[in-house]
Parts: sequence; structure tokens; C-alpha cells
Amino acid sequence: MTAPTTPYTELGEALGTDFFSVRDQFTDEQWRRFADTRTFVDSEVLTDINDYWERAELPWHLFRRLPELGIVGEDIQGHGAAGMSPLALGLVHMELHRGDGSLGTFLGVHAGLAMKAIDLCGSDEQKRRWLPSMSTMERLGAFALTEPEHGSDSVALETTATRDGDHWILDGTKRWIGNGTVADLVIVWARDTASGEVLGFVVETPAEGYSATVIPGKVSLRALWQADITLDRVRVPDENRLARATTFADCAAVLATTRSTCAWMALGHATAGYDAALRYAQARNQFGTSLASFQIVQDRLVKMLADLTGMQLYCMQTARLAEAGKLSPTVAGLAKMHNTRTARSILSEARDLLGGNGILLEHHVVRHWADIEAIHTFEGTETIQSLIVGRDITGIGAFT
Ligand SMILES: Cc1cc2nc3c(=O)[nH]c(=O)nc-3n(C[C@H](O)[C@H](O)[C@H](O)COP(=O)(O)OP(=O)(O)OC[C@H]3O[C@@H](n4cnc5c(N)ncnc54)[C@H](O)[C@@H]3O)c2cc1C
Repeated sequence: MTAPTTPYTELGEALGTDFFSVRDQFTDEQWRRFADTRTFVDSEVLTDINDYWERAELPWHLFRRLPELGIVGEDIQGHGAAGMSPLALGLVHMELHRGDGSLGTFLGVHAGLAMKAIDLCGSDEQKRRWLPSMSTMERLGAFALTEPEHGSDSVALETTATRDGDHWILDGTKRWIGNGTVADLVIVWARDTASGEVLGFVVETPAEGYSATVIPGKVSLRALWQADITLDRVRVPDENRLARATTFADCAAVLATTRSTCAWMALGHATAGYDAALRYAQARNQFGTSLASFQIVQDRLVKMLADLTGMQLYCMQTARLAEAGKLSPTVAGLAKMHNTRTARSILSEARDLLGGNGILLEHHVVRHWADIEAIHTFEGTETIQSLIVGRDITGIGAFT
């Protein structure tokens, strides 16, 4: 029997990765979110995504399905948002990323960062003004924190906000901003020239002085665009300043909520890699028998499964802690660090187990292998998460 040459139509059907029976703990709501997203991924995403990824085009028809599935808005209550429990939210992101990282990151930027920034830092009036149309995705969001010279040390950002009567003038540059060229509402973090504090502003595009260009040549999350943004005396009314964002800590609080989501995203990518490797090993014959019959191959698959199971348990417990209101940014950082690092290892193994086919898009694995690189880096690199945890256990801050 030769290796399959068509995409794995059965990808993701295997539920055999749940060795610790974590799914037995799902409530009806969590099962529904998980199952609906899984069906969407298997029947609509996996069939289409490789072409979009290869051409670096946005799969708008898939993006538009997200509000139809009722999964836009994370755990935000009201305003038409999904209002998911922490576990359901994690399962949705896991499943989207099991399908495709660009699609999942699109939702992560729009809802996890932009909508959450408004929900956590906006006044009630601001939430009423923006969240309903974001829940339906009539208006798209972006979150502009990183700058060309400030990534891990975004706390030192240089974009300025200067008060001018009942307006603010924004000046500066931003880099790596997901949806920056297509968003209607861009959350811009800028330093008040009077107080030196970091404030958040909602820039409604098009806006005079706001320009964004797509960063070319990207080999991860190709079906999603990130932008370089220039803010040249962009005037924003004071009513668009996020009312409850008064220091950088308020921005950091938004990022803390998405860190555990990154752990779920990594679990989705790793599950896709393991799934493909197992199926390939069963189908591919060498030396007159299936790869799966070789002891070393079985050992490699089992080690991947063991790592995957550990990732699942990290995710389950972060969701439990979040439900109890006990999830600290440090623990979320530990989960992100552990899961993106482990996912990289699983995907590297999976890619190798597919031999030459492992580098062909039609076998899916290489897309996940490339996509995990972005998730490993954004919202705090592995090293930065490690330093956050290191500060916690030693009491010594090694990076500030
Ligand atoms: C695909 C993608 C999408 C993104 N989307 C967004 C977005 O929507 N909005 C947004 O605001 N930003 C976004 N980002 C930016 C992202 O958050 C940053 O890339 C990330 O914070 C790292 O910053 P940097 O790339 O400048 O790397 P750097 O900070 O320059 O880090 C380079 C290396 O140095 C290491 N390092 C840094 N400081 C230390 C230290 N003190 N000790 C030891 N090692 C250190 C890092 O771990 C890393 O390995 C995105 C990035 C990517 C790649």
C-alpha cells in the first residue's frame, strides 16, 4: 500500500487522544461548542484552507462563518457576544487551530484582543457602542501594541498621545498588527505625553493619518495578514479613549486573558500533527509492512501522545482555575510556555514521520508546523513566559 496522496478526509475524526477521559467532564454547553466547531473544521476548513495558505489570501468565507456559529466574543456577557465558559472558549480555539492557525488567530485578534480590550477597559457606553457590531463581525477589530523597536519590552512603547482639547493626537509606528489593514476598529496603545502613562484608544478607520501595509514574505499563518502601521497625527475624540485603561497594567491585563488561549491553540496544532502522523504510519508501507508496525515508530507515536496528553491536562486545569477566578497570569504563562514548546516538538516529529510527504501542503502537517512558530512567539515568547515564572519562583525579576 502506498502513502495516501489526497488530503486526509478523515482527519480529526479520531477521538483517541483523550486517554485521561477529560471529555467526560464536559457540560452540554462545552460539548456543543466543541462538536459544532469540530464539524465546521472537518467539513469546511480542511477542505479549503491549503489553497488560501499557499496564496497568502484571506479566507473570508470561513471568517464569516464564525458569527454564524455563535463563537465570536470569548467569555464576554451581553452585547451579542458568545459568552462562553472558560473551557468552552478553550475548546473552540483548540478546534479552530486543529483546522488552521490563521483562522484561529483571526478570531484571537478580533475577539480575544480587540473585543476583550473594550470589555475590560471600556466604559459601559463604549461597550454598547462597539461590542454589538463586533459580535456580528460587521466591524472588525485589531490590537496595536507592538512597535518596530519594542516587542518583548512593549512596556517601553514610544507611540505618543497628546491631548488637544476634546481630542487626542496619536503619533508613532506599530508592527505585526493582525487585521491592521482590514480592521474597522483598531485599539492603539500610546503613551500620554503629559503623564507618561500608557492609554488605549479606539481608532475608527479610515482615519486621516492612519496607514497600514501588509508585512510580506511571511511563512507562518499565511492566510492572515499582519501590518506595519503608521500613525501620523491621527486625531481621536476623547470619547474613543478607553475609559478604564489608565496604565500599561490595564493593557497587560488584556494580554493575560489570551495567554491561556494560546495554550489551547497549541494543543489544536499538536493534535492535528499527531492525528496525521498516526494515520500516515498506519497507511504507509516500507520494507514490506506498515510504518506503524515498527517498534521505533510506535515508540515515537506514543511519546507524541504522552506529550499531547500533558498539554490537555494543562489546558483543562487552566480552564478550571479560570472558572474559579483563580487563574494567575503566571500560571497562564507557564501553560503557554509548556504547550507551544511541546507542540513544536510534536509537529517536528510528525513532519518527519511523513517523510517527504511531510513537507507537502496537501498532507497538512507542514502548515501546522509553520503556524506554531507564530503562536510560540506572539503574546510573549517562550523565554519571556519563562522569565515571568522565574520571577515568581525566585523572587528576582531577571528582565525588568
Ligand atoms: C504572526 C504574528 C502576529 C502578531 N500579532 C500581533 C498583534 O496583533 N498585535 C500586536 O501588538 N503584536 C502582535 N505580534 C507581535 C508579538 O507580540 C511580538 O512579536 C512578540 O511580543 C515578540 O516581540 P519581537 O518579535 O519584537 O521579538 P523580540 O522582543 O525582539 O525578541 C527576540 C528574541 O529575544 C528574546 N528576548 C527578548 N527579551 C529577552 C530577555 N530579557 N531575556 C532573554 N531573551 C529575551 C525573545 O524571547 C526572542 O527569542 C505578532 C507577532 C507575530 C509574529
